[in-house]
Amino acid sequence: MSSVQTETNKSELFDKTLDIMQELYTKMSTAESEGGWNDHFGLFHLFADLGRTLVEADRCSFWKWDKINHKLITNAAVGEDQIIIDENTGLVGRAIREKRPVVTNDPYNCPDFNSSVDKSTGYVTKSILVIPCFNCKGEMIGAYQAINKLTDEGFVLERDVRRLSVAAVVCGITLEADTFLSDSQTDKLTKLRNRMGLHSDYTSKYLKLMQKPEEEKVAVSIIMCDIDHFKRVNDTYGHNAGDAVLEHVAKILRDSVRESDTVYRWGGEEFILFLAKANLDQSAEVAERIRQKIQASVCTFEGTDIKITMSFGCAEMTPDITVEENIKIADTRLYIAKETGRNQVIKETIEGYEKVES
Ligand code: GH3
Ligand code: MG
Ligand code: MG
Repeated sequence: MSSVQTETNKSELFDKTLDIMQELYTKMSTAESEGGWNDHFGLFHLFADLGRTLVEADRCSFWKWDKINHKLITNAAVGEDQIIIDENTGLVGRAIREKRPVVTNDPYNCPDFNSSVDKSTGYVTKSILVIPCFNCKGEMIGAYQAINKLTDEGFVLERDVRRLSVAAVVCGITLEADTFLSDSQTDKLTKLRNRMGLHSDYTSKYLKLMQKPEEEKVAVSIIMCDIDHFKRVNDTYGHNAGDAVLEHVAKILRDSVRESDTVYRWGGEEFILFLAKANLDQSAEVAERIRQKIQASVCTFEGTDIKITMSFGCAEMTPDITVEENIKIADTRLYIAKETGRNQVIKETIEGYEKVES
């Protein structure tokens, strides 16, 4: 290859890289309401494009390593395009296992290559380069994969790792930020989303559903529920048993709602459910079904069977008031459920039951 050719390529490459960075900068400086992003997925997409451009590959993908569930998940793809594989699978798995870049320009003769995707899609993989990605503490958190070098020579380890490192670094930092964000919105005990998660979801998802044009508008309801006499569980069986009951309740709640609904741990032994496509009566039906399930269930902790009941307050939300005001309506109804006997669902506000905040 002549030096002139190399120079031209490099300047073209630099130009293309700057185009992607400018697109990124423009998107990041645009409000969500004007077409900007509200999460990190858009960034990962552009970083995949950046890596693809830098190493001149046909495809690029960024894989997040889920160490708890021993899986590798594509982060550059969203929704149905997202692929989840076992952590030991393929060349991505090998790069992570060996904590170093892996390259092959003859995948079909490489024992780690999994040809099943090619078989099902008809795509022919000719070359692969994978480099592990790290967070700022040096912990491996994922890997970056480039497929099919567009030039005939295949991937050249030293040169292409150097180029791909640009995309791998920004992906690593973005993934770290994304992980911090999702951790800060998750309750450690029940793994449900917490108050921060609720406020974020309300603005990014549920409020939008309620604000759609008239014909597409979606009813969104709230169920607020609280374990009855939970203090007695702690007092009788101990705090660890109380924690086990909270996990037990969280699982029943999560298993009782649709994909479009979300369950939150609002605090202590109090939970909130946001239900999409549910009006007041429908939310009360869901709450009643859950109430019966909870009543019929048994939480077994260290050989002891613990039974509990819960009280529920339901309300259909409106975008005309704040999320706090919407919650307050459901909370007042939950308070009525408690005051008038517990283990029941209330969907109307009854005069004379004004909750006095303590
Ligand atoms: P009510 O039927 O009126 O709701 O009575 P209650 O006993 O459930 O309500 P109260 O507010 O008197 O007590 C709630 C208890 O929940 C007190 C608190 O120690 C306990 N609690 C809050 N968070 C946790 C937790 O994370 N784990 C455990 N084990 N207990 C918790
Ligand atoms: Mg309670
Ligand atoms: Mg309570």
